[in-house]
Amino acid sequence: MDDDIKAACTELGAILAGMRRGVAFTGAGLSTESGIPDFRSPGGLWTRNKPIDYGAFLSDRAMRREAWRRRFAMEEAFAGAAPGRGHRRLAQWLAGGQLAGIVTQNIDGLHQASGVPDERLVELHGNTTYATCLDCGERYELDWVRQRFEAHALAVPDCLDCGGPIKTATISFGQPMPRTAMVRAHELTRACDVFLAIGSSLVVWPAAGFPVEAKRHGATLVIINREPTEFDEIADLVIHADIGDVLDAAAETK
Ligand code: NAD
Ligand code: ZN
Repeated sequence: MDDDIKAACTELGAILAGMRRGVAFTGAGLSTESGIPDFRSPGGLWTRNKPIDYGAFLSDRAMRREAWRRRFAMEEAFAGAAPGRGHRRLAQWLAGGQLAGIVTQNIDGLHQASGVPDERLVELHGNTTYATCLDCGERYELDWVRQRFEAHALAVPDCLDCGGPIKTATISFGQPMPRTAMVRAHELTRACDVFLAIGSSLVVWPAAGFPVEAKRHGATLVIINREPTEFDEIADLVIHADIGDVLDAAAETK
């Protein structure tokens, strides 16, 4: 770690020491250490596959099959993943009362796996570790879907209760955002004293709106990301380095 980054981590340590109701806003960069690729980095998921939007998923059975094929191809990465240093630090600060909550765009369930309780976590894009029926909301475990999928020549199973389409419990492009999650995310953002944007390129709506909202309500804005983001210029502190290294270094300076 070079001297500039070290100094920035010390500054972050001082901010954290005074933090009373912080919010961590996390993106895919937090989970790369856990072996789950992000979207936009080289080698990221989008450099391999164009995302399947909600309309295509609903209207086209072949697209649905492709979506599930891709999901199961990722199963090893998701099922084998354990929380990284970043997840563990955030869980610690939440338990210690410095963080009021975590708002995540991640769908991997690793915040929960690090011990964050549901009532302190907002998942803006849902969760890929289980599935639901889009019509009636019935929950399905992925093992069940996979067994059906493989036993029936990769045919996508429909809901046993209502015949509706079954999809991972994630939000796709073109799918409405979950209302309760959005309301909670805005509440946390407006009330926080420190807003930590961690491992997100901050390019997708609504992600891009939150840092500005936090600043407008008087929060100290910190951005931690390997590469620049559009919001670096309005941030109070920007650190372009590895998340695990930065959070560990900041915690140790306290
Ligand atoms: P993104 O891929 O757009 O951005 C991730 C950012 O993190 C990049 O700017 C990258 O440079 C940075 N980064 C990666 N590893 C890092 C590290 N170790 N240290 C510091 N920075 C690092 O991701 P996003 O902004 O979260 O948006 C992508 C969308 O992808 C989200 O909607 C999310 O739902 C979905 N997604 C989720 C996961 C997951 O759940 N783990 C994985 C891929 C995509
Ligand atoms: Zn149903």
